[in-house]
Amino acid sequence: MGKLFELISDDALKKLDEYYTECHVCEKTNVDLYPYQGQVTLENGKIDDDIYAACHECLQSKPMMHTCSFLYEEIIEKYVRSLTLSDTRTAELKMILIEQYNRTPDIPFFMQKPDMPLCCENITEFTGYPQNNDDLYNISENYRYWEEGVKEKSKYHDFKTYGSPENLREIAAFQCLHCGEKYFTFQFS
Ligand SMILES: [Zn+2]
Ligand SMILES: [Zn+2]
Repeated sequence: MGKLFELISDDALKKLDEYYTECHVCEKTNVDLYPYQGQVTLENGKIDDDIYAACHECLQSKPMMHTCSFLYEEIIEKYVRSLTLSDTRTAELKMILIEQYNRTPDIPFFMQKPDMPLCCENITEFTGYPQNNDDLYNISENYRYWEEGVKEKSKYHDFKTYGSPENLREIAAFQCLHCGEKYFTFQFS
């Protein structure tokens, strides 16, 4: 399988084929499906909000929107304002990033609140979850911490001292495709 999405690496993507057999938008079977909880605007103007999985073609071409898209739009808003660009560029970049977000599948194993680090005027690529404690220590010690923005790490991110989270999937790792900076988020499951 080639690289279908810029923002989620193939390895990290968990296909939903075990649960769903067809794209919830175009109803095609025998296509790779990606997790996407949201809605699509149909040709007759009606909204179908019963979408849980979609194919690559639909994600790239159909007017789709994540459920609770506004939560991540607030994070985008905060980020673009921090860049001190012109008003026109700020508004334009915000629209580009929202569009990009709505064409990106959900991170598998649904985070409580959508939060993907932003860097170099782009959404960073989700690279996966720690596979074991060594991975966890490496990520939490060397990656920048992101929580709706770049944030200082707290002492509780010292997992060697305070113990690993119950589920390693509470930590998600990301990398900027432009500058290579690595980030992690931490959300209790
Ligand atoms: Zn489709
Ligand atoms: Zn960057």
